[in-house]
Amino acid sequence: MPRPARLRLITVDLDETVWPCAPVIRAAEDAVQDWLQGAAPALAAARDTAGLRAHRIELAGRRPEIAHDITALRRASMAELLAAHGEDPALAERAVAVFLEARNRVEPFPEVVAVLERWRRRFRLISVTNGNAEVARTALRGLFDHTLDAASVGAMRPDPALFHAALHLAGTAPGEALHAGDDPRLDVAAAADVGMFTAWVNRAGHPLPAGLPQPDVEVRDLLALDRWLEGTAT
Ligand SMILES: [Mg+2]
Repeated sequence: MPRPARLRLITVDLDETVWPCAPVIRAAEDAVQDWLQGAAPALAAARDTAGLRAHRIELAGRRPEIAHDITALRRASMAELLAAHGEDPALAERAVAVFLEARNRVEPFPEVVAVLERWRRRFRLISVTNGNAEVARTALRGLFDHTLDAASVGAMRPDPALFHAALHLAGTAPGEALHAGDDPRLDVAAAADVGMFTAWVNRAGHPLPAGLPQPDVEVRDLLALDRWLEGTAT
């Protein structure tokens, strides 16, 4: 597998790459549901968490201009549903705050902080996410040179905007950059399209789905990637 001759930038996906995400989202959606039962009982009675999610998906189809910004989508969906059920749509802001407070209670995988601390001494380090975790509210605060999300660059991966923004911020060519992430399509294929080196962080040992490019390296965790990078010129 090709290795970077010289590496200056590592971009790192967040959800399921540096911390488990699915259980955190479930807990955050439960927190919103609990809050709704007191604050907007008519909506709580009409829609459970699956019903709220179905509305967000439907709204993303109707409002493509905010579909890449999942916080804006959540806020707009909640406001629409609150109004439809005779509740105050202004409560949407509080509902989003309840969600984000719980959504940022992420716990990095055990090796992550030590590896990122090592990388930040050698490379430019930028987080890139389609999601809405706020690094500054987590245990990873201060470890990245920059934190980029789809909402701020205007598009979700596989659109290359997040990678282009990271390369621009680092002043780095794609051939001197590596992206690490858990998703074979959104991380590996999308970064390879831009010309970056790719590391598939495959913690669960899934098979690579058919039709997607091989990563330059496949690892079980960031420590294994750190070992692969040892000896890489910077
Ligand atoms: Mg991910």
